[in-house]
Amino acid sequence: MTEVSREDLALASYVALRLDDWSPEQGCAAWVESRGSTCAKPPLDAAMLCKRHRNVALKRLDAARQKQEQQAEDRELHRAKMLPEWRAERERVEADMERYGGSLTNDRAAYGGQSHPSIRRKQLQALSDTNVQRMAKLSKRWQRLTDLIGDHK
Ligand SMILES: [Zn+2]
Repeated sequence: MTEVSREDLALASYVALRLDDWSPEQGCAAWVESRGSTCAKPPLDAAMLCKRHRNVALKRLDAARQKQEQQAEDRELHRAKMLPEWRAERERVEADMERYGGSLTNDRAAYGGQSHPSIRRKQLQALSDTNVQRMAKLSKRWQRLTDLIGDHK
């Protein structure tokens, strides 16, 4: 392909069907639906589009940008609304992590002493498996909430 700027290519992509095999001799690359072919009028300067299709492409580009801005705004609004909920949930998750993280050592102590070592080992194993799973789930949720909140606490 001849020297076509990235801006030009991006702009043409709003009105052309395909751009991979375009060459300057083909003229304006915009697809004309009613004709079933490309526009082929002489492009402006060294561009890929004629004046009319350049304007069409610029309008579509502008509309796409506005849509993106609107979506970013919507995301921001949603975030602002959800932030207190995410924070509150993270506090609950942290409290649970504290509780289950602490209970492991307490339970270990409670089981210490009386029972046969092999039974005790099994009990401790079962206990810690449950706790490990619970803690893994909690820490995953904690990480997800922290990502959402975005403070990388
Ligand atoms: Zn054209």
